[in-house]
Amino acid sequence: MKLFPRELPPTAGLPIQASDFFPGGGDLVDILAAQLGTPPLQLTCSGTHALLIALRTLRQRAPRRDTVILPAYTCPLVPIAVHSLGLRVQLCDTRPGHFDFDPGQLARLADARTLAILPTHLGGRIADVELACEVAHAAGAWVIEDAAQALGARVGNNSVGLRGDIGFFSLAAGKGLSLHEGGLLVSGDDDLRHALAAHADAHVRFSLRWELLRCVQLLGLAACYRPSLLSLVYGNALRSALRRGDVEDAVGDVFPLQIPQHRVSRWRQNVGAHAARRLPAFLQASRLRALQLRVQLAQVPGVEVVDGLPGTGGTWPMLMLLLPSQRARDAALDALWSRGLGVSRMFVHALPDYAYLQGVVPATPVPHARDFAARMLTLGNSAWQTPQDTATLLAALPRALA
Ligand SMILES: *Cc1c(COP(=O)(O)O)cnc(C)c1O
Repeated sequence: MKLFPRELPPTAGLPIQASDFFPGGGDLVDILAAQLGTPPLQLTCSGTHALLIALRTLRQRAPRRDTVILPAYTCPLVPIAVHSLGLRVQLCDTRPGHFDFDPGQLARLADARTLAILPTHLGGRIADVELACEVAHAAGAWVIEDAAQALGARVGNNSVGLRGDIGFFSLAAGKGLSLHEGGLLVSGDDDLRHALAAHADAHVRFSLRWELLRCVQLLGLAACYRPSLLSLVYGNALRSALRRGDVEDAVGDVFPLQIPQHRVSRWRQNVGAHAARRLPAFLQASRLRALQLRVQLAQVPGVEVVDGLPGTGGTWPMLMLLLPSQRARDAALDALWSRGLGVSRMFVHALPDYAYLQGVVPATPVPHARDFAARMLTLGNSAWQTPQDTATLLAALPRALA
């Protein structure tokens, strides 16, 4: 008998094995830099922490520049980080039916106050970093690639994060390779890379309290990241949030405004180093599953799988589906969200629509981002998804569209 209902994760995370806790994993950042073909990577305690270090480092070079341009549909932690440094958040609407910047608006927004522009590779899909670089560099600003959801994604032969001035990845739970919380900074620019490292050396301290918490959380993640136990740490809380009608809580969109900043212990790095050796094969398998699912989804009229720049690679931590209307999307969620099939939403709102971010995010009208948030849902692309699960999903979508 099963103790708990079977639950698939909403994103494809790399499962941790018991043997990952043995010593001898090697050096996490060296292993990843070799796999990705990047210059040395810098480990941080979260993706958000990596962004904080990047912004502080750039601010030292241009103290009069105080504005950071973000896509209007992204993780709430991004504007929270910008605001926490006393910088101004400026939102650029997305292009219609997409997560990437509206090019015309981006060009109009960048000016002498712009410190950085953050093109964002959402769901492992590739954003137009080239365009962001043209606009930013013409205004004397920098580009920080938000690759939090895109560790392992490539454009041509190169890892994301290198075309912009600085890039960062997240190693949070559910984002592929995980230390429960962690992040990586990357830069192809030697001067910037040294400045980022020097900043962390000078300012980031070890915190026993935070590190102990993260070690316990990582053990919990390793134990529970499987369909038989995931309802315990994910599905049951999701269903109870949905019963309360609290969708922000259901997807975990409400973050504290204070960002922890501390060093990551050798112990957690060792676990990640073991797991990192399985990352290339894991990403390749995820990609094959996603492409197969995409072929099947192409047979459901009205459902669009959101893609990045044409002809680019990318990773598939989940599939973002765009439905023709909010009504159809909501009908699909009503049928599927609480079923333990890995169906979910990414961020529930465009940034101005989070009540708790008032004072952090300006109340800019962002119709395209709002429409994207209203019509999008995600499929988890988990290795545990069976053909039966897929059949259930594929049968429910046309019903929601009818
Ligand atoms: C998760 C996420 C972040 C923040 O990363 P953390 O490691 O959770 O701090 C930033 N940007 C995007 C797009 C994300 O999805």
